[in-house]
Amino acid sequence: MSSVAWDPVTGGPVLLAPGRAARPHDTRAARNPSRRPCPFCEGAEQDTPLETYAERPEGGEPNTPGWSVRVVPNKFPVIAEDEGIHEVVIPTSRHVVELTELTEQEAARALRVWAIRLEAIGTDPRGLWPFCFVNQGAAAGASLQHTHAQIVGLPVEPPRLLAIERTFARANPVAEDLAAADTRLVAEADGMAAWCPAVPPYTGTVRIAPREPTAALGEHTDFGELGRLLLDVATRIDSALGAPSLNLLVHQRRPVGPDAYHWHIDVVPRVGTLAGLELGSGVIAIAGAPEATAARLRQA
Ligand SMILES: [Zn+2]
Repeated sequence: MSSVAWDPVTGGPVLLAPGRAARPHDTRAARNPSRRPCPFCEGAEQDTPLETYAERPEGGEPNTPGWSVRVVPNKFPVIAEDEGIHEVVIPTSRHVVELTELTEQEAARALRVWAIRLEAIGTDPRGLWPFCFVNQGAAAGASLQHTHAQIVGLPVEPPRLLAIERTFARANPVAEDLAAADTRLVAEADGMAAWCPAVPPYTGTVRIAPREPTAALGEHTDFGELGRLLLDVATRIDSALGAPSLNLLVHQRRPVGPDAYHWHIDVVPRVGTLAGLELGSGVIAIAGAPEATAARLRQA
């Protein structure tokens, strides 16, 4: 049976992943004290599928300890292996459960590897749509604590990614919004900024992007600067908003898509929940003003 189904009412794609129901959860440890050993920690390499990419500063065999960053297929993928890709980027071999606990070097390395894998998956001969995201905390969809990003290669056009791609074909609303950000600025790094968009996609969203538009994360990006900015933003969200669960969404041009794009990373603190309006109509209600969110985050 195919992983992809089409909702006959909306016409949109749906991924059928019955096997994911069996995946382990340790993010609700309080409810389930029988914690398993963490498969993402150093020494547990045999508990994951065979790695697709890793960096070992001292050398060493694949699927053994000694790695600084490791990419493995998701053991419980949203998409069948013969139809697409679903992998996990583990940015540190230490058992770290929040982005803010990463060192600047680890954050920079992780971002660089996201860029590498997005390019590789986006040029897969099957014509997959690449997308990278982080779920942190149970309310954001995380099932394993050990911080990690996920990258999918989808065999269908994701409606939201397609809509964003089509927007950049005719305009650059990210650059326009950043140019007018002013009181909505949160933090800055060399050539990059973090700000609250005037019209955010979700409540509390902080957007990170280069000031000069580049289409993909891997193009001319100073990953050290970007890593510092990302850690700064995550730390501000933790302290200003009470360490909420959060999602991090990476939007960049597809390697085989149109060139016009302005890559951006949306950090979405899960301060609200998607309710009936959002689930049923697809229309998002934004609570609070971006200027007020930005002010709180600046002061944090
Ligand atoms: Zn771990």
